[in-house]
Amino acid sequence: MMLRFLFTLLLVLAGAGTAADTQSSSWPGGLAYLDLGAATGEAPVVEFSGKRVLVLNDDGRWRAVVGVPLSAEVGHASVTLADGSTAAFVINDHAYLEEHLKVAQSYVSLSEENLARYQRERKVIDAALNNWRDVPLAEIALNSPVEGPRSSSFGKRRFFNDEPRNPHTGMDIAVPEGTPITAPRGGIITATGDFYFNGNTVFIDHGQGLVTMYCHLSEIGVEKGQTVASGETIGLVGKTGRVTGAHLHFGSYLNGNAVDPALLLPEKN
Ligand SMILES: [Zn+2]
Repeated sequence: MMLRFLFTLLLVLAGAGTAADTQSSSWPGGLAYLDLGAATGEAPVVEFSGKRVLVLNDDGRWRAVVGVPLSAEVGHASVTLADGSTAAFVINDHAYLEEHLKVAQSYVSLSEENLARYQRERKVIDAALNNWRDVPLAEIALNSPVEGPRSSSFGKRRFFNDEPRNPHTGMDIAVPEGTPITAPRGGIITATGDFYFNGNTVFIDHGQGLVTMYCHLSEIGVEKGQTVASGETIGLVGKTGRVTGAHLHFGSYLNGNAVDPALLLPEKN
């Protein structure tokens, strides 16, 4: 009786119509896991900030996995379900360090032509990062696309030639030029291209808004529309675009937001 009362009280305190829980990475650039009840019937349709959210069938429970934006305010947040109910969660504080980098000045002060190019490319990139494809998922683990030292961490606030720019939205893995990059899980290639900042880039859609991105490649080994299996080579490491040297920039996205790839990869070996 008392336990039932406490449980009800907790639900009321959480401000949730549906039971919600959180795991330790619910912070800007992290993942918020929300338990949405027994996995029966159709998967619930969940939205965060107007974007569809990935829902796992996790051992018989529907579990939403929200990609928390790096720009998110710390505090209470909620997702909306198709029936109009909400599920609340808390976004915790997380400290990210600063990073100062020296690059060619043409990557800091963009010419009119390069700015126009960047704006055209941004649309292609945003479309690939926000692609939604319905596919049932039980988990979202990724294999490492290359094995090497993770030279720069996700979320760092960056200064290029001492000018503040957007935070780092991926993981840099230091490996020599020409190292093969393998798909971290199966998916569909939704875009490839040679972009101003990102250089030669590949996007893989793994379903339900889980998207991975590979930048600065020396060679792209896949084509748009192609299906790739986990472990299949998608290109070679390079140093194209805004870089200080050869490395793989590896980005992972959920509901259109960059999340720390370290939260999806196996523990560092
Ligand atoms: Zn990077």
